[in-house]
Amino acid sequence: MTSEFDYDLFVIGAGSGGVRAARMAAGKGKRVAIAEERYLGGTCVNVGCVPKKLFVYASQFPELFHASQGFGWQVGQMPRLDWKTLRDNKSAEIARLNSIYNNLIANSGAELFDGRATVVGPHKVSVAGVTYSARHILIAVGGWPYIPEFPGSEHALSSNEMFFLDALPKSAVVVGGGYIAVEFAGILNGLGVETHLVYRGPRLLKSFDAEMTAKVTEGMAAKGIHIHLSSDVDEITKTADGLRVALADKAAIDTQLVLYATGRRANTAGLGLDTTAAVLRADGSIVVDDQFATADPSIYALGDVIDRVQLTPVAIQEAMVLVDHLYGDGTARIDYSDIPTAVFCQPEFGTVGLSEEQARAEYSAVDVYLSDFKPMLQTLGGGADRVTMKLVVDRTTDRVLGCHMVGEHAAEIIQGLGIALKAGATKAHFDATVGIHPSAAEEFVTMRTKAR
Ligand code: NDP
Repeated sequence: MTSEFDYDLFVIGAGSGGVRAARMAAGKGKRVAIAEERYLGGTCVNVGCVPKKLFVYASQFPELFHASQGFGWQVGQMPRLDWKTLRDNKSAEIARLNSIYNNLIANSGAELFDGRATVVGPHKVSVAGVTYSARHILIAVGGWPYIPEFPGSEHALSSNEMFFLDALPKSAVVVGGGYIAVEFAGILNGLGVETHLVYRGPRLLKSFDAEMTAKVTEGMAAKGIHIHLSSDVDEITKTADGLRVALADKAAIDTQLVLYATGRRANTAGLGLDTTAAVLRADGSIVVDDQFATADPSIYALGDVIDRVQLTPVAIQEAMVLVDHLYGDGTARIDYSDIPTAVFCQPEFGTVGLSEEQARAEYSAVDVYLSDFKPMLQTLGGGADRVTMKLVVDRTTDRVLGCHMVGEHAAEIIQGLGIALKAGATKAHFDATVGIHPSAAEEFVTMRTKAR
């Protein structure tokens, strides 16, 4: 039987969500096209999670070189970083991942278009001057860094450019108080760059547990990052040998690089959605329902472009729910509660569930367990790092509502606790679990005394 459409599904954007949706739909025998104008794998693979984590590893070596001496290693002079080796090895690894994505798409049977696709009406997509029809179009074009406009804002870089710098600067000012700002401040500081972090609000990572983010801030400062809170940037000017960042309180910071990490906006400009009934918010993000349907019956959207939770694993889950909705039995749902997440700042921060503030707002009786200790590496290695762990418990049901950790391996540890929270674990379950000794993680099952 011939279809009235060229494709069952035309996906625009080959990032985490788009590729997963295309592969799964093709795996169900659907005729699928996927178009990508920039790079396969999207933000995460190319200018986000993956290269960021590689840079985080790179930035942690100086502390390890230092610590190794307490364990008897004679390292002599501190080793020197060759930025270009790091940058180019990173780029080679990303190229390897791009080609894996290419193979994944090809092997799934989906057809890849290398170019910019635009929507030219319901059911209609245009690539390189040719218009194709599709029963459904999926918009998975992600987001793009947002830099506010102000005098001198043209001198600021976004995270996109940080992965390709010609040279590592001697000094840098990072503006923002979210994930990207604190992560890049840690990377730059660790790589030996004199780093200032300037944030307009009173506390970093403001949507997370206040006590834990205060520990992050203390830890970052202890590692040498100059943190300026409640501080607005007025202007950036060029100087003879760099840039001057003028702050609203009249102070100024001379620096070689300014990074603005002030959020990301949906990448919908010029996409042609105005030729359809799809509704966009003022910031360009797309309004969708529980099944990721827009107001236009032929158009769906997911991932960063819908601006719910800008995280790769969430986009991937959204894609699986959508494919089940379109081509499966339609029972799959996404649950946005208890999403584990980690900020790869230094010290690292991992969290799942409710912050103490959220728990106290929602529950009448909340118990808090806290543990703060020196990690074992530091006993011989020296260094100022600490580990802080926190459990937030509903006293009425004994259910653990939130697990939070600042310190080494927080991301790895919190991932497992995410399963416990999903399973509805109680504090009694935590207490009945045998610890792994010696580890930092065992503290999560040995906290017996309520802090509050
Ligand atoms: P965030 O939304 O996390 O943070 C943006 C920051 O910029 C906030 O502190 C915000 O301040 C500040 N800001 C916004 N507008 C201005 C302005 N005009 N002037 C000064 N400051 C401003 O965005 P990011 O860019 O850090 O990251 C985007 C998203 O990407 C994250 O939310 C996260 O979902 C994802 N991500 C996830 C990572 C991970 O999983 N480890 C790593 C990196 C990114 P205020 O709060 O006062 O508005």
